[in-house]
Amino acid sequence: MGKVYLTGAGPGDIDLLTIKALRVVREADVIIYDRLANPEILKEAKDGCELIYVGKADGRHILPQDQINEVIYQSALKYDTVVRLKGGDPLVFGRGGEEAKYLKERGIAYEFIPGVTSAISVPAYAGIPVTHRGTSVSFRVVTGHESRHKPQRQVDWESMKSDETLIFLMGLHNLTNIVNNLIRIGRSKDTPCAVISKGTTPDQKSIVGTLSNIVSKVEHAKVETPALIVVGHVVALKRDLEWFDQETTIY
Ligand code: SAH
Repeated sequence: MGKVYLTGAGPGDIDLLTIKALRVVREADVIIYDRLANPEILKEAKDGCELIYVGKADGRHILPQDQINEVIYQSALKYDTVVRLKGGDPLVFGRGGEEAKYLKERGIAYEFIPGVTSAISVPAYAGIPVTHRGTSVSFRVVTGHESRHKPQRQVDWESMKSDETLIFLMGLHNLTNIVNNLIRIGRSKDTPCAVISKGTTPDQKSIVGTLSNIVSKVEHAKVETPALIVVGHVVALKRDLEWFDQETTIY
């Protein structure tokens, strides 16, 4: 039986892949990868390495999660070194925990290889520090894609009243709802916010506004996924701190 490396691929820029991830990618007998993992990384695989795509396109699952779990498990029965490559960090909205549980129940050894999560690195490439002395003492990473299935935990909007930096992943198509909820609980309409798409890549695009105008700005700007949303006063630091010369920014 092989070993499975539940590996973070980083947010896009291949230089943000960790040395440990690169090492297992080079050793892998099979790589099971997602849409968000930069395909350039696959060029590092050795000759004969099997490549299995299990990503999602436009929100449609190519494979449901339980079948992905099974593909990983079957790969571990067949090969020595199995790399499960996932965008960003495997345990930040990456379902790496579910995959590990499935393997553990079947006696398969695994390791988590953390990756650079988009939640922090994409704002960084846009010149937005998620914390900043005197501006924000904490940040929170929240799903922007609330489950409609009641037994699952729901987002606790009421707990977001403080001035903490909020980072929403998977929220582009739910932006109006997110903004409305934040205004409803009392966040000022002037609170700066940004939507950043294809972060850390040459196609990075940032739309900067406030809670009152970000929805219409994003509608006009044609923003593509993947994209994340940053809300909080740290976004106002962008003008001073932006540095990534491949970024397109719309104020
Ligand atoms: N495990 C990943 C997140 C998976 S959820 C991580 O740690 O980064 C997928 C969401 O991540 C997307 O909907 C988007 O909100 C965000 N995301 C991932 N890569 C991104 C990128 N390059 N630019 C902007 N957002 C990104």
